[in-house]
Amino acid sequence: MKVDFHCHTNASDGSLSPEQIIDLALEHEVKCLAITDHDTTAGYEKVLGYAKANGIELISGVEISCLWQGLTVHIVALDFDVANSQLQNGLKQIRELRKARAEKMFQKLSSKPNAHLQALPEKVLELVGEGIIGRGHFAQAMIELGLVNKAQQAFDRFLKRGRIGYVKPEWPELEEVVRWITAAEGIAVIAHPKNYKLSSNKLNLLIEDFKGAGGQAIEVVNQSRSNADSIGMAQRAHRHGLHASLGSDFHRPEHRWRGLGWLAPLPKECRPVWELFHPSISEMISHSNSC
Ligand code: AMP
Ligand code: MN
Ligand code: MN
Ligand code: MN
Repeated sequence: MKVDFHCHTNASDGSLSPEQIIDLALEHEVKCLAITDHDTTAGYEKVLGYAKANGIELISGVEISCLWQGLTVHIVALDFDVANSQLQNGLKQIRELRKARAEKMFQKLSSKPNAHLQALPEKVLELVGEGIIGRGHFAQAMIELGLVNKAQQAFDRFLKRGRIGYVKPEWPELEEVVRWITAAEGIAVIAHPKNYKLSSNKLNLLIEDFKGAGGQAIEVVNQSRSNADSIGMAQRAHRHGLHASLGSDFHRPEHRWRGLGWLAPLPKECRPVWELFHPSISEMISHSNSC
């Protein structure tokens, strides 16, 4: 049975509506899905009924921005109580930080005498719509304005640390974010651990701090990562007693290397993250995987 515990809708920086994500899950035969938008559960909440009507097991999800040793780390929360006020207040606070950061980014970028950059705020806000603003929208707007060809180029030229559009984020600390998740009875997962480009020792330190705060799992299989990376991460998860999650980090259909649900199975030694979900879901997944 195909599962995917990491993807985005236009409630954050994805291009598809939550309904379109459910349609895509059906098309790709993904039976159990978590919508994990950046710092909002709005997309998930919007399609609870639609997912159910279509036979998709939709579990609650969100990808939360936080800081660890001054570095941005993403923590995916899965199968939590969406109504939990501690978690929702925390997410609201991060969304405010996102808006304030975007304003500063607009100011910095429009200080350059470049007509495309002057036109950027309008384009970005058009793309954001009702969603939550992020650097992904800046990158997409730059593509659409013809400033760059690819998102990677937008990050390399304008958006990453050290470039003109970069504004140091003030996300909450990792420990605090993990505490919100556990308060909401959810599972905290370190998202795409290879993305942080940490040394092996530093990644071990991150994992120890994460576990100390109550974190339980790490993404072992990501669509954009190699098998060798997955096997290495599975061994690390095993050594640290962490459960293993998997997710495509789908953002938009044009990114063909990141299709929804197109994931290798978890390596054999892994303890799958769904063992920690509510029994009805974990039993459904375990049962169908053993058939
Ligand atoms: P933010 O959380 O607003 O700082 O934006 C982070 C998001 O930007 C990530 O979730 C990705 O969607 C996207 N992103 C980050 N780095 C890159 C990159 N080098 N190339 C393309 N997209 C990126
Ligand atoms: Mn994103
Ligand atoms: Mn992420
Ligand atoms: Mn993501």
